[in-house]
Amino acid sequence: MTGEVDVSLLNLQQQIRSCRACQLAGLLQRANPIVGEQGRRKVFLLAQAPGARSDAAGMPFAGPSGRVLESWLQQAGFAPGALRRDVYLSSVTRCDPGRSPSGAGDRPPGPEERALCAPWWRGELALLQPRIVLLAGRLAIAEFYPPAPLEALVGTWRQEEGIWLLPLPHPSGVSRWLNIPAHRALVDQALAQLAIWRVTLALEEEATHVRTAE
Ligand code: SF4
Repeated sequence: MTGEVDVSLLNLQQQIRSCRACQLAGLLQRANPIVGEQGRRKVFLLAQAPGARSDAAGMPFAGPSGRVLESWLQQAGFAPGALRRDVYLSSVTRCDPGRSPSGAGDRPPGPEERALCAPWWRGELALLQPRIVLLAGRLAIAEFYPPAPLEALVGTWRQEEGIWLLPLPHPSGVSRWLNIPAHRALVDQALAQLAIWRVTLALEEEATHVRTAE
């Protein structure tokens, strides 16, 4: 659905914004759930968690990872601006977990945070019923696949309950996985499949899409 207000999704997004579960459980110092816009129905992106830039901006993928994702979509033939026009942005947890103790990148959300947050993204998925779910990074992939090395999954795809799942690496620049040419070739393979779906499943939203949330 594009250009119409989906009351169920709006209600769910309001509930997510109000969530303080991890703060109350002592898992986060400060909860600040980041919620994507509504209306992008066909492509659903499940990522890891918002980072500091998204936390400050109040929008998902406000930092460099968003630019990488946008470039991947354009490689798959989407028109510029696709990330915020054609994709519903969600993540395994919705609040910035802060920096990792080592200082190298963001702290991956722990199992308790992921369990507390799972009803939110699962609820979005159930309401949106997308054609494609892009799984960006190990934590997102782990929600749908048994444990396996990233290189065994990126470049493959499968259908689950009518939805195509496409594993991708996390687009963070901290990830060294993408620096290996053979891994990059797997990403190219995945994006080539996304390019096929873009056409066969008509994944691009109408250019006249009207922002309806917030
Ligand atoms: S990470 Fe998810 S469950 Fe935890 S406080 Fe934020 S929105 Fe709530």
